[in-house]
Amino acid sequence: MDIDFQAEIKIDVLEDEILQARGIELGILRLDQIHPVVSGNKWFKLKYNIAEAVRNGSDSILTFGGAFSNHLIATAAAAKAFGLSSIGIVRGFHAENNLSETLHACINMGMQLHFISRGDYSQKDTDAFLNTIAQQFPQSFIIPEGGDNEKGRKGTAEITALIPDTFTHIVLPVGTGATFSGIRNALPGTVEMLGFTAMKGGGYLEEAIKKSLKSLLPNWDLITDYHFGGFAKYNQSLIDFMNAFYEKFRIPLDMVYTSKMMYGIFDLIKSEKFPEGSKILCIHTGGLQGNHSIKHLLSYK
Ligand SMILES: *Cc1c(COP(=O)(O)O)cnc(C)c1O
Repeated sequence: MDIDFQAEIKIDVLEDEILQARGIELGILRLDQIHPVVSGNKWFKLKYNIAEAVRNGSDSILTFGGAFSNHLIATAAAAKAFGLSSIGIVRGFHAENNLSETLHACINMGMQLHFISRGDYSQKDTDAFLNTIAQQFPQSFIIPEGGDNEKGRKGTAEITALIPDTFTHIVLPVGTGATFSGIRNALPGTVEMLGFTAMKGGGYLEEAIKKSLKSLLPNWDLITDYHFGGFAKYNQSLIDFMNAFYEKFRIPLDMVYTSKMMYGIFDLIKSEKFPEGSKILCIHTGGLQGNHSIKHLLSYK
């Protein structure tokens, strides 16, 4: 089972003076190019969940997300591609005449949205809450926020097949950690992994990731300093970085995840955190649809 991937997944190797000066190779795995909507890591997290829903004979996929969730929109598109309807449980109340572009796009792809309070949303992983949801939507296959379950991690482990074994470091942005742990579980322990957390105080993800690892493999770390004020928050220096990065490398970055990772990795390279000869592969996890809300600030689409 596969959706119609539109491009071969390639690695761009960046040419830059600072990389040359430090003797570092930096590649970007372009998962953003695989599909215009179900881009980046999202299809990998969804594929085994959707396969299970189809096998079960479920009518619809139900999942959770905020107003800018790439996961919600990817779920809406993927469900539609498989002839399933979709239901999105959205964090917080949003007036119908003031919905984010992401939520509009979800509706346009046939997703039925239900808004719940932030308080209720914080209960979304509890048995009590999930039982209520299952009663309310008995024909739905429920996927947790961000596709963060065992099937999600089974899917993201497959990203490893796209990673050549010449790289010493694999770097990616982290939201729930499902992509990070899936890859860590499948990658040789000798390869170092770094995750850039997208939210303020992302250190809590360390415990969540540990629980999802098949063994307590060493050789991974979370970098929590490059959140720029919090999840989906940005400032002028991040915007300037995104525009300059595009100018130089012709690679668009998203404002929530991949721009913060790339900003951070260049910062760490400049401050000589990587030994000479390091071969670093950053994973472009997609998310470009989220740039809609700042398109007036960007020199690219
Ligand atoms: C969802 C998302 C992530 C986070 O993935 P997790 O598996 O939840 O850690 C990273 N980058 C982009 C662009 C995303 O949309």
